[in-house]
Amino acid sequence: MSDSDNFSVLRVAINAPLSRLFDYLPCDGPVPQPGTRVRVPFGRRTQVGVVLAIADNSDLPTSKLKRAIEVLDPEPLFSEDDLWLLRFTSDYYHHPIGEVVAAATPARLRQGLPLYATTEYVSVTPVGADAEIDALRKRAPKQAELLGIVCDAERLSTEALEQAMPGWRRASKGLVDKGYVEFSTMTGDADDEAPLANVEQVPGPTLNPDQRAALRDVEAAAGFQPFVLDGVTGSGKTEVYLQLIRSCIDNGRQVLVLVPEIGLTPQLVRRFSQRLGIEPVLLHSALSDTSRLAAWRAARSGRAPLIVGTRSSIFVPLKSPGMIIVDEEHDVSLKQQEGLRYSARDLAVARGKRCDIPVILGSATPSLDSLQRCVDAGYQKIELPSRAGKAVPPLMRLVDMNRYPSTEGLSDPVVAAISRTIAERGQVLVFLNRRGFAPTLICSGCGRVAECSRCDARMTVHSASQRLRCHHCGAERPMETECIDCGSPCRPLGHGTERLEDALTSRFPGETVTRIDSDSTRLKGTMTRALAMATAGETRILVGTQMLSKGHHFPNLTLVVVINADQGLFSTDFRGGERLAQSLIQVAGRAGREERQGEVIIQTAFPQHPFWHELLHGGYHSVAERTLGERERALWPPFSRLALIRASATQRGEAHAFLDRARLLADHAAIDGVRVLGPVGAPMERKAGRYRAQLLLQSRERAGLHRLLDYLRDNLEGSPVTRKVRWSMDVDPIELF
Ligand code: ADP
Ligand code: ZN
Ligand code: ZN
Repeated sequence: MSDSDNFSVLRVAINAPLSRLFDYLPCDGPVPQPGTRVRVPFGRRTQVGVVLAIADNSDLPTSKLKRAIEVLDPEPLFSEDDLWLLRFTSDYYHHPIGEVVAAATPARLRQGLPLYATTEYVSVTPVGADAEIDALRKRAPKQAELLGIVCDAERLSTEALEQAMPGWRRASKGLVDKGYVEFSTMTGDADDEAPLANVEQVPGPTLNPDQRAALRDVEAAAGFQPFVLDGVTGSGKTEVYLQLIRSCIDNGRQVLVLVPEIGLTPQLVRRFSQRLGIEPVLLHSALSDTSRLAAWRAARSGRAPLIVGTRSSIFVPLKSPGMIIVDEEHDVSLKQQEGLRYSARDLAVARGKRCDIPVILGSATPSLDSLQRCVDAGYQKIELPSRAGKAVPPLMRLVDMNRYPSTEGLSDPVVAAISRTIAERGQVLVFLNRRGFAPTLICSGCGRVAECSRCDARMTVHSASQRLRCHHCGAERPMETECIDCGSPCRPLGHGTERLEDALTSRFPGETVTRIDSDSTRLKGTMTRALAMATAGETRILVGTQMLSKGHHFPNLTLVVVINADQGLFSTDFRGGERLAQSLIQVAGRAGREERQGEVIIQTAFPQHPFWHELLHGGYHSVAERTLGERERALWPPFSRLALIRASATQRGEAHAFLDRARLLADHAAIDGVRVLGPVGAPMERKAGRYRAQLLLQSRERAGLHRLLDYLRDNLEGSPVTRKVRWSMDVDPIELF
């Protein structure tokens, strides 16, 4: 065959760290369409890949092309639109396409298992049904036993037979030869075809005028339009989502709702199912492979009208997408920070555009990126400025830690406010974003601090387990009671949630104190139980980290105490102020969500810092406005584009040598308007025994930056300089280390 002959080449995405597709000749049978899995030879092994395109030629001569081994799907797993998103993700984030496709594919499908499991059955034939079992028993007792079992059930899955009669397969041969039983297979689980269970519907409140206006604005959009639903905590954003979802589903379209990692609470799921009368299909990291595949199938087949999931569900195939909602769109967990570093929020907008559907980005503290896009990128802002129903905004005040004495981190005014709240049978949330007992263990003699041997970081004291733990690499060791240098006793310095829990328990004996952080909720089900207790009002004092600060609705909660947020005031990251304002407004939003007004007390050693005046008097939007002004002058995002190239190695020099090479290439490419900064060591240079360094690329325009990233990827990938390093590209990084 000459190269000009007409033939098909499969262009296949394979899970490998290389940014290209691999060409194969089709195997016998019809040529698979794009979106279909194939098994192909790859190196010395075989791999499961996904056909992304069919070409009529290859850069390789035909004689060099290998042939695919088998086609794994009778029809494509991914539609054209689904594939577009995968390709877009790979292009935009400069990440190997095969790894993007793998990230979007459930594990069982990556392993080559069928989309729909086939079940093998054994059933009795009419001849078998009339056979004399007693006569058979004398000659072949095992066969008789098996025939008896199959006759009783008429039809049994091989799995069930395995249980009922181990070793049944041998006996089945004789029965098949006699024509007494036969094997059959069935594809697809019957449950998969049935509509989802209906749930009894509970009516919701009548929307207020702001909510109605929001609804009208979104419903007026014909096709693609991003909206920023900017509504204070408790303003009824979720009620607006519910109505939008209802009308979308009634029109026969699917809705995908993305929530932050810890936002997918049983509370939220129950609210969705009760109000809509359907069970949403959930997609999150804690699902088993089988459940994940079932959820994925339901989204793909269109059987699930509503899919609620964490960031990776942005890739789930949808039969008839009608709307994408991103709740808490400012939340950092919507950005994946390792491997394929993507922003599920930004991909939601890209997907919405491709599918020509509205995209709702909701938050009480919208990211500065999204707020700016309302100004210059056609996003439409919808505001819900006041709380829905009867609730009023909480009162916020500062406590100056220089003026008031404190015991165990709790100042006198805070203790007084907690006592008052308890006396009124209210509920208190004490927020401290630091888990463990104390962040530092210090020697009382020489001042030596316990450090991690693998990171440039201190060990955190955990008192319940009497261990020191590194929160960066997970290393742990037993508590040190005496200094290894001078033998003096060591003592914990500073406060974590565990210490605060102890302090509150002894200060308020007889009251239930519940701690909620990633240590206390490690065991399955503990989080759900603790939250249920808190919601029911059984817990008087809640102590917790970030985990407790988002999305929850505790009807009785009237007082929120922020123990220490001062480190956020002096953050070196240009996003520090934005983050601090978001986390404070979110935690404050837990207070006074029903009739009684909430109160928020923030302890600080820097009450004069201008940030406080701005936040307490102007609110989040005042912080946002000033910060955007500063970013514009300094040309930080959203007024410029950033990309970070990170490298790590066991030797400091190797990480730097790699980035020096990248810098040289970047300088050589000399793309107009792109600034190259570094390489420099990461702020915490050593982590888990590896030295980390980074190169920052900054550009006014997206196009120039992306051209440079393409060029760098082409020249770095597979080059010998990569041998001793792990490296990655982070487009639109949200943390500069
Ligand atoms: P958000 O999502 O903005 O935090 P929610 O939708 O959870 O707000 O609403 C906060 C509380 O106000 C909930 O208890 C909700 O039932 C109630 N609520 C929302 N909209 C209304 C309304 N129009 N009338 C009365 N109560 C409402
Ligand atoms: Zn010492
Ligand atoms: Zn460590």
